[in-house]
Parts: sequence; structure tokens; C-alpha cells
Amino acid sequence: MNDAAYQKCINPSCNATYGIDEVLTGCKKCKSLLDIAYDWNRLPVPKSMGFFEHRWNTKGLHSTGALDFSGVWRFRELMPFYRTEADIVTIGEGRTILQQADLLAKNIGMQAGSLYLQYEGLNPSGSFKDNGMTAAFTHARMVGATKVACASTGNTSASLAMYASLSGFKGLVFIGSGKISIGKLSQALDYGGITLQIQGDFDDCLRRIRQIAADPKNGIYLMNSVNPFRLEGQKSIMYRILEARSWEPPDWVIVPGGNLGNCSAFGKAFMELKELGLINRIPRLAIINASGANTLNELVTRRGLCWNGGNYDRQAVESIYAAMDESHYRPHTIASAIEISRPVNLPKALRALDVMNGVVREVTDEEILEARAKVARWGFGCEPASAATVAGLQKLMAEQIISPGESVVCILTGHELKDPNATV
Ligand SMILES: *Cc1c(COP(=O)(O)O)cnc(C)c1O
Ligand SMILES: [Zn+2]
Repeated sequence: MNDAAYQKCINPSCNATYGIDEVLTGCKKCKSLLDIAYDWNRLPVPKSMGFFEHRWNTKGLHSTGALDFSGVWRFRELMPFYRTEADIVTIGEGRTILQQADLLAKNIGMQAGSLYLQYEGLNPSGSFKDNGMTAAFTHARMVGATKVACASTGNTSASLAMYASLSGFKGLVFIGSGKISIGKLSQALDYGGITLQIQGDFDDCLRRIRQIAADPKNGIYLMNSVNPFRLEGQKSIMYRILEARSWEPPDWVIVPGGNLGNCSAFGKAFMELKELGLINRIPRLAIINASGANTLNELVTRRGLCWNGGNYDRQAVESIYAAMDESHYRPHTIASAIEISRPVNLPKALRALDVMNGVVREVTDEEILEARAKVARWGFGCEPASAATVAGLQKLMAEQIISPGESVVCILTGHELKDPNATV
């Protein structure tokens, strides 16, 4: 099965390909991001999404159906990069809930039956990151890695440390000093991750860890979302939403934008489902930035940046980063999980916006906290970054871009108890 999967440069004027066993964080020729690509006609692709319905395993992780217990690997035909099923590292992730949130809908002026909340905080480590980590650890095992590392605003480190501990890897995490909520930091420590606080913010941490991982002497496998395998696992969030809606796509999917890995994975999921003829309609995408970390919104909404078949205006991106350097700009928001000013997956996010006819907006910390309180009052609650989705929805309703009767799914990326300080 494995030689039908490969890595492919997303830059259409390069299109370089690499084997699935190479450990890369970008194209060797042009430095662009990589996708995992498949020769679908050589793979056993289901004829309809209904195929997955008989997969539900009620016996648990330690039964013979362990892969079917995982809400990620139940959909393994749609992410078939592993060599054999024995490669797969799973801890029972992805068993999350899509809630029809009528009380919240009523409060913000939506019709009953229109608003849904996807609780990715119900993953083992309390955030959506587990969907990606299970896939990246699977690849790490395939290539024989023993040491894994990431830079993190908190949830990636919690997830990495949990998977490392449970599956026999050494885990190393870099976090910005004072930039992480106490709940997330305590998880990395609890699970035995080697945790280094460095002076600076997320962008500084990522730059440092990429330098360290780039030196083969260190033998460190990088787990940040520049790792294209992580995004394969995160596609499953969309599959579960479709499943919970009897395979009927919603009108909108709304997601917070940080390093832009999640929205990129959603775009890839729908691009592939359409290509495979497994859906006939693609939902629209809204990516919500915090005002204090609004690079994507600045570029897309204010300056009109778009994918343009892969020939997006690279100069516009370079100039915004140069201006940030010059003014010593630092992102700042209470939604620490999206406090990122140089999103590494920016080109893939532009592609996702193109595929899903998407929009970008930014919301203030006040709007985020207000929306977070509403999700807690009329739902299961979520951490601040996740509530940017509901704040963004209210903004798009006020602009009459989303109407009260359209079906909307907000992705609640992290658990309420990740950051209780924000509430108290
Ligand atoms: C990581 C994270 C995000 C941002 O996701 P990206 O893929 O980096 O855009 C949003 N919310 C929470 C809770 C997160 O942990
Ligand atoms: Zn390339």
C-alpha cells in the first residue's frame, strides 16, 4: 500500500516528489511546504462515505478492532500513508462530539438546528492536536525515530508528551517563557516531556527547534505542523463532522487560525473527498484570527492575498514580515494557542480558502472572552482560542455573510479546563 503514497511539493511550478520514508519539513528544491499525496487508483478507496458506518468499535482500544476505536484511524482508507497497520500509533484519539447547540444559537440570533459545536477538547490530551499527533507518531515509528520534538503554545507539547510517553519515544518541547497556560504546561511535565522554556514567543521557539531538528546529528524528529503527516490525521475532524450529520456537509466550517495547520488539513480533506467523488458539495470556510495576531487577516482581507493557483504574491508576505521585524512587532492575545504572527502553513491556508470559498476575520480579546463565556454557559465550554470561532460567527452574521438559517459548525479546538485563569 505504501508505494502509492508519497510526499509532494505544493508549489505547482515545482511539483517535486519524495518517498514516504523521507523525513522532510519542506521541499529540497524550492523550500515550499509538502503534502502527502496518493495514487488513489492504486488504493482501495471506499465507494461512498457510508462505508465507514460499520466501523464503530464498541469493544475498546485493546480489542482486535483498536484502529476502529480511534476516531482518526476508522477513516484510514483516506490517509493510507502507513506501510502496515502495525505501524500505527494510537491511544484512542478522536472520539469527539458534534453538539447541536440550540441554546447558544438562540442567544446569538441563529435558528434552532443551525449551529453545531465540534468538541475537539474531548481528545485524550484535551485538544485537537491528538488527531495530528497520532499520524505524525505513526510516521516517526515508520522511519525508526526515537526522539521527537516541537515548539508549542501549549497544546502541541501536551499532546506530544502524552504520545511520547505512551509509545516509547523521548519527547522534547520548547515553549515561550510566560506564554503558556498553566494547565497545558502541567500536562507536559506530568507526561514526562523534557520541557524547555526559552526567552521569546512561539515564533522564536519554532525557529530554534527547526534549527536543532535540521541537524541530522541530533536525530530529532520534528512534530510541528510543518510536518505534513500531522495534517493527514487532522483531516479526520471533517470526516467525523460529516459522519455526525449523516454525510451531509454543513454550509460553513469555522476554525481559529494560529499556525494554520488545522484549516489547511480541512481544505485538503475536502479537496480529496471531492476528487474521490465521496461528497458533492464543499462547505465554506471561515478562519478567525485574534486581533493581536492577525497576519492572515491582514494579508487576505485587507490586502487581497489569494492562492492564485499557487502563484500567490510572495512579495506581499515578505514585506509584512519585514515590517514586523522593523517595528519589533510581537503578537499579543489572551488566546495564547493562536498567538502566532508568522504562520508556517500560510500557503496551505490560502489553498484551503480557495478550495472552500473561504473568508478570514479577526476578533478582539473582549469578543473572544464574551464568546467563551457563552460557550461555557450554553455548551460544554472551551478555551479562549476556540471561542474565536463563535466570536467570528457573530461578526459574519452582523455582516450578513452568514444568515441565521445556514448550518454552521464551529471547531472548538481545546478543552475548557486548559486555561481556567482566563475565566477566573
Ligand atoms: C494549536 C491550536 C490552535 C491553532 O491551530 P493551528 O492549526 O495552529 O492554526 C487553535 N486552538 C487551540 C486550542 C490550539 O491548541
Ligand atoms: Zn518544491
